Amino acid sequence: MVLKVYNTLTKKKEEFKTIEPGTVRMYVCGPTVYDWSHIGHGRTYVAFDVIVRFLEYLGYRVKYIRNITDVGHLSGEALEGEDKLLKGAKKEKRTPWEVADKYMMAFFKDMDMLGIRRPDYQPKASQMIPEMIEMIETLIKKGYAYVTETGVYFDVSKFEDYGKLSKIKKDELSKHRIEPDPTKRNPADFALWKKAPENYPFRWKTPWMFGFPGWHIECSVMSMKFLGEQVDIHGGAKDLVFPHHENEIAQSEAYTSKKPFVRYWLHTGLLTINGEKMSKSKGNFITIREMFAKWKDPEIFRMFVISSHYRSDIDYSDKAMQDAKEKLDRIYNTLDRIDEVIENGDESISNEFVQKLKKLKKEFIEAMEDDFNTPLALAKYMEIISETNKHLEKVKSKKDAEKAKEVIIELGKIFGFFQKPRKKNIEEEKMKEIIQILLEIREDLRKKKLFELSDKIRDELKKVGIEIYDTPKGPKWKFV
Ligand SMILES: [Zn+2]
Repeated sequence: MVLKVYNTLTKKKEEFKTIEPGTVRMYVCGPTVYDWSHIGHGRTYVAFDVIVRFLEYLGYRVKYIRNITDVGHLSGEALEGEDKLLKGAKKEKRTPWEVADKYMMAFFKDMDMLGIRRPDYQPKASQMIPEMIEMIETLIKKGYAYVTETGVYFDVSKFEDYGKLSKIKKDELSKHRIEPDPTKRNPADFALWKKAPENYPFRWKTPWMFGFPGWHIECSVMSMKFLGEQVDIHGGAKDLVFPHHENEIAQSEAYTSKKPFVRYWLHTGLLTINGEKMSKSKGNFITIREMFAKWKDPEIFRMFVISSHYRSDIDYSDKAMQDAKEKLDRIYNTLDRIDEVIENGDESISNEFVQKLKKLKKEFIEAMEDDFNTPLALAKYMEIISETNKHLEKVKSKKDAEKAKEVIIELGKIFGFFQKPRKKNIEEEKMKEIIQILLEIREDLRKKKLFELSDKIRDELKKVGIEIYDTPKGPKWKFV
């Protein structure tokens, strides 16, 4: 079979053919770094990670770029709307640059923790200002963009294909969220550049005015800079289709004189929590860190994500995570049983079992080749697990056990499993919790002036290489 992917642009599954044979150029929209990343981000980036891993499994070299939005993403996209980064900075009493840096580093850690393969490059919007200015200048020269006293805008009436991705008709545009600005020619025109007041922290000099970039321009610029004028895959969550991706197409294709910007547009479904949309005001906002603190093992979240198709909406709940955990436990129990047979088994071989494994592996690959159908591939995978259990119950064949292990590990790696020994992960987390409990007990003892006991905790921990030190925010610990 050949790989087929669903393209949002054509609304069809299409045969996957890359621009450059053997290489996939892939761009996925990254986060605006003004707060902790939530499990919705986790879902999107795990889903694309599985896509990357499968493309690599098929033998492609994947050139993968994911951006970091650290400037100019206005909430509601209106100048009056407060910048997300400025809002974060005010809350934390830091400069917006410090806030962006803090949450960017936290995002990297979260992605590593989820075992997401690092993109080849993760450019920041603030690094790309000269390139953005160049693109905007060209768009003005070509007659696609115009300058007003409030900014530089893209004239959507000049780009006849506007709406081809989201299938929004031009005359229906006014129904959608658009930037109110009386200086614009059409209400649907979007900002490439915005004028900024003098005290605004994100402010660059341009031929037109001091200001900052609109949100959409960075992705066109970065995608072209690192991957060329045309890419194979451009991805993101489906709420980016309009206006973000629609605007990316307009400005990119206007810039390159109509070269198709992207071959395949891939969009992930959204994540709800217990059936409701996640939002801070509802109090059901779960960060990746909070999820991890509760479930300890990143593979549980990965299992939860692959249990649904990447295009489907997905509902996070304790039950869904518990189900994912149980599935994983079954896999690991089978691997333990396999190891036992490898150690103590006999030399027999069962051709029938090996053929069954081969058939299920083929069906797994076919499911993945059908628009990365992970729920179907996972069903095949769990069938391999149960067939292996059944077989090794009756036949203690070392060779069969080895063969099963090979297939389970090889295919499991496509889902991003087995990156670290599982038990080690869980043990490390448990150990951290135990140290934290000891720290709290030590604090209680100190409050009750039982210094002999509290010092004993400190001294005994030191003996095993853990040093407690006091900070204004309470005691902390480190390895020494
Ligand atoms: Zn983007």
